[in-house]
Order: sequence, then C-alpha cells, then structure tokens
Amino acid sequence: MSGAFLEVRDLYKNYGGIAATDHVDLDVRESELHAIIGPNGAGKTTLISQLSGEVPPDGGRVRFGGRDITTTPAYKRSLLGLARSFQITSLMLDMTVLENVALAVQAHAGHSFRFWRPARSETGLTGPAMEALAAVDLADRAHDVARAMSHGEHRQLEIAMALATRPKLLLLDEPMAGMGVEESQRMVEILRGLKGEKTMLLIEHDMDAVFTLADRISVLVYGRVIATGTPEEIRNDEAVRQAYLGDE
Ligand code: ATP
Repeated sequence: MSGAFLEVRDLYKNYGGIAATDHVDLDVRESELHAIIGPNGAGKTTLISQLSGEVPPDGGRVRFGGRDITTTPAYKRSLLGLARSFQITSLMLDMTVLENVALAVQAHAGHSFRFWRPARSETGLTGPAMEALAAVDLADRAHDVARAMSHGEHRQLEIAMALATRPKLLLLDEPMAGMGVEESQRMVEILRGLKGEKTMLLIEHDMDAVFTLADRISVLVYGRVIATGTPEEIRNDEAVRQAYLGDE
C-alpha cells in the first residue's frame, strides 16, 4: 500500500475483447493535480468512469482515503467526497447560474429536487453555492439565466456545481474541450487557483494546459499506464515520446 489519497491497483475493463483499461496502477496524492494524458481511445474516460463508479471494473481495486471503494456505487462515492464535474447536459438552462449550483448541492445532500425551486435568499444553500461560483470566476453571473452563458462559462459552471458539494477529490474530464484560446486560458487560471486546495485528477487533450498545471502526469496508451512522473520527467521519457508526444 502506498498511502496515497486515491490508490488504483490492477484496474481492468474489457469491452468485447478490447482492454479499455489494462491492469492500471495509479496513485493520486493529497493536494496534487494529477493529469492523465494519452491518445484517443487510450482508456482515459473509461478510467475516470471506473473511479466515479459509473463503470464497474472487471478486475482490480480502488481505495480512496484509505477505504476500499471498488464496489461502492457512484452516489456513495460522491458522498465520500469523490466528485466528477457535471456535464453540460446536466445543466438546467432556464434556471439561473446560482440555482444550478444550489440544485447540485441539494441533489448531493440526497433531497428530492424534482419539483424544487430555490427561493434565492432563504435556502441556506446560497453561501456554499456563491463560494463555488467565486472559485470559478462566475460570482458576477450568479443571477443570469444559464442559457445566456457561453460554452466556456457553462464548463466553469459545471466545475462550480462539483465544487459546491465540497469534494475531497475532483475528477475533471476534459474541462477545456471545445474551447477557444481565451476560454482555455481562463480555465487554466481557474484550475491554477484551485491547486493546492483541491486534489484533482484531470483528463485533458490540451498539452500546454496539462504541462503548465500538473504536478504529476500519467500517460495511458492502449489502456496501460506507460509512465508517471513530473511534467519534466514525462517530457523527457523516451517511451512516452515514441508512443505519444512524438506524434504531435
Ligand atoms: P478519447 O480521448 O477519444 O475520449 P479515451 O482515452 O477516453 O478516448 P475511452 O473512451 O475510454 O478512451 O475508450 C477506450 C477504448 O474502449 C476504445 O477502444 C473504445 O472504443 C472502447 N470503449 C469505450 N467505451 C466503450 C463502450 N461503452 N462499449 C464498447 N467499447 C467501449
């Protein structure tokens, strides 16, 4: 046992003869920003879905905060503090930005929210929701309707929704996907602001962002971790250059 915050050992997922994750070992240390990179189809999304509990593994083990969560369902992992950032498809576009975040807090707390609409000043959810919005630079958009926001702002909002549940580990699945240069730069600044305060596992194709932000990087190729190290170590790793970075 490594004593890491998140320990993944020998994790395996087979899709019709293809090993999407092939005996993956991974340690995420408390407070680090750990990035996973790898070519298309390398198994990054499968891995993060196995960690969030949405995809059950065919083999291997996951420990989080010293506890074995290999068979723990997704909603319980979330209650233990393991949060995957929400997807744009889960946003309520006709509600305000603040209401979306408050809804995420409410849903996390396990209340039924089907017919719920927050009264802005009286819910008791406004404090944590506003804190989360401030952390992603959206505090001044709190009362705007979500539909009125740009793609980049929607992605910031997804992160606020995850942050508002006060996770111990934040799983970020391509937060910069589909963004222009300015939007990506803004996201880099937001993630930089969260560094040290939140433990983060980041999947991202934007290599400039990854190499700027990450404390450590693991490289996944054909479902296997071929290297883990600091950005400098990864940049200079011959196997990584040949299998991945050299192709760019
Ligand atoms: P990308 O960077 O393109 O998002 P990825 O690294 O996230 O790719 P995955 O989406 O995890 O890779 O896919 C890994 C492999 O598993 C691929 O060969 C993919 O076709 C396969 N795969 C993923 N999900 C499924 C599924 N639900 N059913 C069958 N095969 C799947």
